[in-house]
Amino acid sequence: MDIISALHTAAPGMTVEENIPFASMTTLKVGGPARYLAQIRSADDAKAVQRCAAENGLSTLVVGNGSNLLVSDEGFDGIVLLMKNSDFSGISLWDDVLCCQAGASMAALARTAAENGLTGLETVSGIPGTAGGGIYMNAGAYGGQISDHITSVTLLRNGEIVAYSKEEMDFSYRHSRAMTEDLLVLGAEFTLEKGDPDAIFAAMKDYNGRRREKQPLEYPSAGSFFKRPDGFYAGALIEQSGLKGTAVGGAQVSEKHAGFLINRGGATAKDFIDLMHLVQKTVFDKFGVRLENEVRIIGGGEQV
Ligand SMILES: Cc1cc2nc3c(=O)[nH]c(=O)nc-3n(C[C@H](O)[C@H](O)[C@H](O)COP(=O)(O)OP(=O)(O)OC[C@H]3O[C@@H](n4cnc5c(N)ncnc54)[C@H](O)[C@@H]3O)c2cc1C
Repeated sequence: MDIISALHTAAPGMTVEENIPFASMTTLKVGGPARYLAQIRSADDAKAVQRCAAENGLSTLVVGNGSNLLVSDEGFDGIVLLMKNSDFSGISLWDDVLCCQAGASMAALARTAAENGLTGLETVSGIPGTAGGGIYMNAGAYGGQISDHITSVTLLRNGEIVAYSKEEMDFSYRHSRAMTEDLLVLGAEFTLEKGDPDAIFAAMKDYNGRRREKQPLEYPSAGSFFKRPDGFYAGALIEQSGLKGTAVGGAQVSEKHAGFLINRGGATAKDFIDLMHLVQKTVFDKFGVRLENEVRIIGGGEQV
């Protein structure tokens, strides 16, 4: 049986596509094709796809909103589990407890909380990812991170659904247990605090205004390309290395915010990888600081 038929048999009714370019699935707008793409609607779909991949010797890659992902120009010769799907984006609220499925956007989580007078998710309201991607990355901004108010996370681990407490998730700066153990995030529960809706909306407006002012949102990017090195800011080190505006092909160090590598038009994944290496080498030679990429790289992006 071919893979498409096998996936349809494993998860009846699930949308499966072939040869879908990552350039259309990622905010960097680069990357070759995903051999197979399965649109996940439920935990059962995710289980079925993982099982089918294992039976057929194929690798899998989980994709949320593709806002922190750089895939090589050769693409990915396996099955992508696409979590951003309207059938897997549910959010529910019970008193001050908010539950979500992995495909819900962080913006929608924050908006739902705000509309119900609950505080705790304002700082992540402008991060353009899914809840699943945010939890995997422990995304954060303005002194807050998505893990701050999490009480538990539901995951797929070796084909079994497990629930881990916040402590068991081992969250730290841009890190979670899902990352180290390659676990698939299915959903999460947050316990929030009561707050003044006007103040909550005002804080979100302020954070999002600061983003528009400081970040090159008019160009495709993956946000800050590098993690914050201990004791430094990546953007400041890159700027002080004279790299603002430096380009390789269509990939460029943003003039507006040197921590962002942008696609100024027609970039390839290789352009971004070459530019990343150039930035890492220049900053290391000047300051002796190793910049580690925050963006997840699939294929061809070893640290130099
Ligand atoms: C303009 C812009 C601004 C940004 N600002 C910020 C910011 O302020 N703070 C910040 O932290 N990030 C920021 N980012 C980066 C990005 O939005 C976050 O890292 C976000 O959490 C990624 O979520 P995603 O759904 O897009 O994940 P993807 O990019 O799709 O995936 C990222 C990683 O998570 C994995 N993954 C995704 N979903 C799941 C799942 N359900 N289960 C298991 N693994 C999964 C993927 O395999 C991949 O390794 C920004 C990006 C852009 C483009």
